[in-house]
Amino acid sequence: MAIPFIDLKTQQKRIRTSIDQRLAKLLEHGSYIMGPEVGELEKTLAAYVGVKHCVSCSSGTDALLMPLMTYGIGAGDVVFTSPFTFIATAEVVALLHAKTAFVDINERTYNIDPSKLDDAVKKYAANPSLGKMRGIIPVDLFGQTADYDAIQTIATKYGLWVMEDAAQAFGATYKGKKSCSFGNVGATSFFPAKPLGCYGDGGAIFCNDDEMHKALVSIRVHGQGEDKYNNVRVGINGRIDTMQAAILLAKMEIFDEEIGLRNQVADRYSKALQSKYVTPFVAKDCVSVWAQYSILAENRAEAMGKLKANNIPSAVYYPKPLHLQDAFRDLGGKKGDFPISERIAEKIFSLPMHPYLTTDDQTMIVNALMQ
Ligand SMILES: *Cc1c(COP(=O)(O)O)cnc(C)c1O
Repeated sequence: MAIPFIDLKTQQKRIRTSIDQRLAKLLEHGSYIMGPEVGELEKTLAAYVGVKHCVSCSSGTDALLMPLMTYGIGAGDVVFTSPFTFIATAEVVALLHAKTAFVDINERTYNIDPSKLDDAVKKYAANPSLGKMRGIIPVDLFGQTADYDAIQTIATKYGLWVMEDAAQAFGATYKGKKSCSFGNVGATSFFPAKPLGCYGDGGAIFCNDDEMHKALVSIRVHGQGEDKYNNVRVGINGRIDTMQAAILLAKMEIFDEEIGLRNQVADRYSKALQSKYVTPFVAKDCVSVWAQYSILAENRAEAMGKLKANNIPSAVYYPKPLHLQDAFRDLGGKKGDFPISERIAEKIFSLPMHPYLTTDDQTMIVNALMQ
């Protein structure tokens, strides 16, 4: 059997009884929209992350969009983020007609570089004509959180909010605190391939602020006031399905154990590959959840070719930084603007990574790469 890039089947076998029971109960009560599992999930996740409020929603993208709507960002506003991320991070800023100011990444963690962020913020502070600075969206790339202490220091100094894009990092920790708890608000995704994934689309937002929580709950259902037909603001249809909430509750039963297994897989990869490839750097304050296990090769095409010849899947996250994407041509980005992101985008590729990767399969992958 071919090695899968992500193995959801083995996981499902482990929790199938719980899933079946939860879905049977759901089919009995029939509350497909905002059923009791949704509230149960939000309580479970808020307690897990260690924040006051969790608002589940329809996707990681909507989890990023909805907090920006509560901040009322729009034309003339500027939001800082990394160009080395999935398009959704900056797409939500553009959807609201605000401007993204990209800031290059640290060459070891691939997350936004706080010293470059400080430079960028200073530049905007000195030139109000460039736009009004509003906030920062650090991305916890590949499952490792950004450097939140350094980022928060800058945010506080300049009065900016921080929204954590933890779409790839649910369950990760930084200085002992869970991802989604940093800054003012955290957003995550339950897309099936993420560390905590459902069987469709889903996401969640985390915050401690009661006012923001109230606004998010309203935006999630068309800006509802007292009820759905009393609309106090413009919102979206941003709900998660009850069925997805039920799946996530079953997956939470084994989630911490899976994080442990992911870290074992990553350690084995790094030990076996570090003599020939640049293996991931995990900062000393961080525990990654390994959404991706990504390495750098001087000749990426050759390395990926060796895997392909052995029927082993691999993928490139991300081949093109966002400042070079046509979708963001209005921002005027050009080659050379963010040299670290550009260089990493040329050399990086990701290996099969999931909690159930066997040592035998891993040996095959390593042998192919070390040929
Ligand atoms: C997956 C992802 C998103 C979007 O999540 P969806 O659930 O697919 O909408 C946003 N940001 C990052 C960094 C992601 O990896």
